[in-house]
Amino acid sequence: MGSDPAGLNRRPGHELAAGLRAGDFSSLELTDVHLAAAERDNRGLHAWLTIDAEGARAQAAAADAALVAARRDGPVAVAALPPLHGLPVALKDLVSVEGGQCTAGSRILEGYRSPYDAHITERLRTAGAVILGKTNMDEFAMGSSTEHSAYGPTSNPWDLDRVPGGSSGGSAVAVAAFHAPFGIGTDTGGSIRQPAALCGIVGMKPTYGRVSRYGIVAFASSLDQVGPFARDSRDAATLLHAVAGRDERDSTSAPVPVPDRLLALAASDDAAAGLLRGKRLGLPREYFVAGMEPGVEARVREAVAALEAAGAVVEEVSLPHTDYGLATYYIVAPAEASANLARYDGIRYGPGMRDGDTLANVLATRGRGFGAEVKRRIMLGTYALSAGYYDAFYLKAQKVRTLIKADFDRLWADGFDALVAPTSPTVAFRFGARLADPVSMYLSDACTLPVNMAGLPGVSIPCGLSEGMPVGLQLIGAPWTEAELFELARGYEALTADAAWRTVEPTDLARAGDPDGPTPMDRAAALAGAA
Ligand code: GLN
Repeated sequence: MGSDPAGLNRRPGHELAAGLRAGDFSSLELTDVHLAAAERDNRGLHAWLTIDAEGARAQAAAADAALVAARRDGPVAVAALPPLHGLPVALKDLVSVEGGQCTAGSRILEGYRSPYDAHITERLRTAGAVILGKTNMDEFAMGSSTEHSAYGPTSNPWDLDRVPGGSSGGSAVAVAAFHAPFGIGTDTGGSIRQPAALCGIVGMKPTYGRVSRYGIVAFASSLDQVGPFARDSRDAATLLHAVAGRDERDSTSAPVPVPDRLLALAASDDAAAGLLRGKRLGLPREYFVAGMEPGVEARVREAVAALEAAGAVVEEVSLPHTDYGLATYYIVAPAEASANLARYDGIRYGPGMRDGDTLANVLATRGRGFGAEVKRRIMLGTYALSAGYYDAFYLKAQKVRTLIKADFDRLWADGFDALVAPTSPTVAFRFGARLADPVSMYLSDACTLPVNMAGLPGVSIPCGLSEGMPVGLQLIGAPWTEAELFELARGYEALTADAAWRTVEPTDLARAGDPDGPTPMDRAAALAGAA
């Protein structure tokens, strides 16, 4: 561990918070340990597009000063510090941080600097968190592998030849590889839960409207939600609590109170496991899709058995419109994306072309600035919205969307507390495996997309390994039940606290720090050459 003798970056955020308050170490020490790990591994993992060491150290020093002042005022003042005070966080590179780059993984935003902080950035600053930098992502969050980043792919720390999932792959890897205890992602169709599953960490997509998207690059506005990554559910709930809540500047953020229960997840394993007793959980049969890997299905079914053994009542249920999720999503999301991405004309943001007349400049900017997947989505979206096709595609998709939502509503009305399902039908795949066939990439999200279509909260938590790679268990709840979902997640963590797989660290992480080793780009190229 080199520069990190105390293994500080291995410890969960809630332990770090306690250690900071007790004076065991400073935020600056903590920040330096995490920065050192991020800098050491970034060649091999490419989780980060920017590491802002200077800015992070300044924030850490300010957090330490506030801690010293609070200590002078007494234990009540120390206890009143926000839970994230002095703790490092990784932001997906589509969250605005004033003065910093914000590429959204695209060439079209190269060199663009955010003129203001996103709402969640403000909230994180108020909470005293230390922003370490910005993480890699699929271009405009379109993808399931982070291979669509214009800046090159990110490696999975469990196997450097494999993808971390996406689109929030960089944040997931930063947290899984111990560069930060906390990470922020966005999830339009699975982009938090799927990379969390593939990297062996916790990731939640909150209820649509739970977190303000002010200052966050838009993909599909009726689906996008911001959410937390962490290595356990307590930390993920704490981060969600810090960023959630109504914001006047995003009219889709809801005036629903953020429950303090998020901060009160049982600390003791006994108490946590007790939370499962009598809970009624649905197991949607349609989520065990064709093409699901047997090892993934086995881990999920074992997790379900463990939940039952702890007193939860699990019943098989049906969500009959699940099969339409993918087709519907790939009308709605590209349609909205085509409208959202119209603003990238080279005049307002980023490096525009200036050699021709206005139209030629716009066309050249977009032609060069957008990658192939983004262009594919814009074409799909503008087609689906065009006169004559709008009713046949977009309107029809919106109607099917209502049916997908009604499937879930029926179960909540029946009294189910939550649904249990796989997060991803497969473990992390090799670089290049799904690039040639976009539909195979789209299928990565078969189990997560319907949750976005219905606006529901969903969390992915680790539930073991298959062929040495992490498997995710997805818990899906009724709107605004994030705290209940995290309680179930915490209960499952407690049940499996002693499981052997919990002690396994990302198995390829040590190789990521090799200063002469291949980059993810080299690995992807080698695999493409071998194919
Ligand atoms: N993989 C899905 C897509 O490509 C979802 C991405 C996301 O959630 N941002 O659209």
